[in-house]
Amino acid sequence: MQTKVFLNEDEMPRQWYNIAADLPSPLQPPLGPDGNPITPDMLAPVFPMNIIEQEVSTERWIDIPQEILAILHKWRPTPLHRAYALEKALGTPAKIYYKNESVSPPGSHKPNTAVAQAWYNKQFGIKRITTETGAGQWGSALAFACSLLGLECKVYMVRISFDQKPFRKIMMQTWGANCIASPSTETNAGRNILEKYPDTPGSLGIAISEAIEAAVTDKSGQTRYALGSVLNHVMLHQTIIGQETKKQLAKIGEKKVDIVIGCAGGGSNFAGLSFPFLSDKINGANIEVIAVEPTSCPTMTKGPFVYDHGDTAKMTPLLPMHSLGHDFIPPPIHAGGLRYHGMAPLVSQTIVEGLVTPRAIGQIECYEAAVLFARTEGIIPAPETSHAIAATIQEAKKASEEGKEKVIVFGLSGHGLMDLSGYDSFFQGKLVHYELPESEMGSAIHELDNLPKPKMVKSGKW
Ligand SMILES: *Cc1c(COP(=O)(O)O)cnc(C)c1O
Repeated sequence: MQTKVFLNEDEMPRQWYNIAADLPSPLQPPLGPDGNPITPDMLAPVFPMNIIEQEVSTERWIDIPQEILAILHKWRPTPLHRAYALEKALGTPAKIYYKNESVSPPGSHKPNTAVAQAWYNKQFGIKRITTETGAGQWGSALAFACSLLGLECKVYMVRISFDQKPFRKIMMQTWGANCIASPSTETNAGRNILEKYPDTPGSLGIAISEAIEAAVTDKSGQTRYALGSVLNHVMLHQTIIGQETKKQLAKIGEKKVDIVIGCAGGGSNFAGLSFPFLSDKINGANIEVIAVEPTSCPTMTKGPFVYDHGDTAKMTPLLPMHSLGHDFIPPPIHAGGLRYHGMAPLVSQTIVEGLVTPRAIGQIECYEAAVLFARTEGIIPAPETSHAIAATIQEAKKASEEGKEKVIVFGLSGHGLMDLSGYDSFFQGKLVHYELPESEMGSAIHELDNLPKPKMVKSGKW
């Protein structure tokens, strides 16, 4: 009974997989304020050109620079585990595997792209990176990456999390980043908001506006902005997860995978695990691929496929994606990383194509799944990750009913040791099931009525 599969460092993938090369219907371009496709040079004040090139690339394989591999080796390849104890507790004939991204120093999959982005910025001569963070997972991943590469890092952290979740902030400080509460008095965007609403708790939208403003107004030209999910290059950097998983499954003797499951906020850990499997599916393999989101922020299951901004302040180009509208403010559930109004364009297109099946699950079922997982497998998962676990349990129960020995793989995107207050609320019975009513979806989506509409292009094969 082998419980986990390791790979040697020299078995780590040397290339990222770009699904844009294999999509049956191509991705539609991001649009500028005038409704025309944006050109790479329009993004140049925000991102370094080497990252913009990756963002628009349709090459299937992109080499991972040796220096990035050397840093990833600090914790990669990550283990693939067989969840024997969870299987036993469920009495399922299914074989459950999970890819453990919680072993990175910041505790999630996010450093896979943070390290790559920091490295490309440094190559381009950038000295300082700005970003926003909500609950702090992305801010701490970028702080970690910048500290290893000797870059300055400035993080605008949403005020309410800054006050209520001090531990991630302390992690960022430990890695040498400058983390300040947003809105701040350091930017026009922040000052304007503070003048109108001095007691505002802040929002991700405001923090994004501040971080972009700080990058583009630096007169030295040596500051750029970084985003932790949603964009094509972020999905790309995460594909080492799925490539490693495929090698590990082969090593343990699995010839076929039936179901691949990941939680999806902006889509990056889900894409990282599933895109290498989708490549097989596009080429004829029979694999069910499930992306899981909260019922309180049902971007994929209820949000239409539209052109929308990535942020509340409408500073980003229009992206073709499933969205609840850039003005949508999700209820304050504990899975902070899944509280985002949009979904990555690449993930959205795989849903439109029928390659991926989205599913929404309520937070109580997710916490029940997380606690069962902690009491069987031992790891306390992040509240975001618990969505993937809950869907895995649903599928394992279905396998029991059907009496089938299915092979299920899910992504353990991070641990929950910095998010124990959510568990506390669950144990105290303070959590409620929250389903977004249709009536609350109206206004934020109506905001999009006058924007251009993407085409619903699909091949019809799935
Ligand atoms: C940020 C985060 C997520 C959600 O982001 P994606 O880009 O959708 O992956 C999920 N799990 C963990 C642990 C996170 O930190």
